[in-house]
Amino acid sequence: MNTESKIYIAGHRGLVGSAIMRYLQSNGYNNLVYRTRAELDLRKWDEVNQFFQAEKPEYVFLAAAKVGGIVANNTYPADFIRDNMLIQTNVIDASFQNDIKKLLFLGSTCIYPKFSPQPMKEEYLLTGVLEATNESYAIAKIAGIKMCESYNRQYGTNYISIMPTNLYGLNDNFDLENSHVLPALIRKFHEAKVNSEPAVEVWGTGNPRREFMYCDDLADAAVYLMNTYNGSELINVGVGKDIAIHQLAQLLKDTVGYKGEIIFNTSKPDGAPRKLVDITRLTELGWEAKTTLEEGLELTYESYLKELNKKNL
Ligand code: GDP
Repeated sequence: MNTESKIYIAGHRGLVGSAIMRYLQSNGYNNLVYRTRAELDLRKWDEVNQFFQAEKPEYVFLAAAKVGGIVANNTYPADFIRDNMLIQTNVIDASFQNDIKKLLFLGSTCIYPKFSPQPMKEEYLLTGVLEATNESYAIAKIAGIKMCESYNRQYGTNYISIMPTNLYGLNDNFDLENSHVLPALIRKFHEAKVNSEPAVEVWGTGNPRREFMYCDDLADAAVYLMNTYNGSELINVGVGKDIAIHQLAQLLKDTVGYKGEIIFNTSKPDGAPRKLVDITRLTELGWEAKTTLEEGLELTYESYLKELNKKNL
């Protein structure tokens, strides 16, 4: 890509898409195209194809997807499989029909087998059963990866797939029931601070370990790989280290400036003991994450406060 290339970001309002858009804009790319959900329903083939015919993008970041936490995935499996299959099939095939130069598809590390050895290597995909609660989402994402791979094989296209680890940052979902641990705890600590509550409840034992990557680092990696990597092999994108949930809770407590206690509610599930990706391939390709967890947490809390202020106006 160069700064004049016409680049389409599908899903530009989400955590990943908005980070890619900010990154491209701040690095001088000035020919970006994007549409809101109201303007373009990616589940509708005719609309998608017409958009591609009219805009003729050269590069596509496919960051549009229906995503959600365990409760949403478990409650609406049909919506997750249908919407994701439709969105990715339409965007990938319209990219092909309209001769785009290159596409980047976003998988997710939660589509690796449930009992993957840790750290998870790219070749573990499809080697075991999936986590039952997000099977519909995972099957759709795996189909997207295989679709890119198959188009490359049959048609000689250049569609790459990356596997981001747990992401956090601006435009995250801060819902208490439905979000992931990091945004949920930011909100819990913040509300406890404001309401002078004596303690904050953290689910589980605090012992499970997770890897967290700041969304702007993912955007940096996505653009780097779009510019330098060609191939059908998956690329994990992570930071290469994990931390225990109790350590994360302590860091968040400090970031928010909450003075009360942390209580572990062991009646809530721990989930997998550890989730970490192997980033050997990414490192060999010459990329590494730049934002420390402490910096990323500061930035995320700042943006959370800004959003709160907007809502209060
Ligand atoms: P997972 O990586 O798929 O297990 O997803 P989560 O981000 O939801 O949970 C990660 C870990 O954080 C689990 O061990 C949870 O029990 C723990 N956890 C602690 N407090 C919370 C919370 O308030 N919300 C969520 N979602 N998880 C929490």
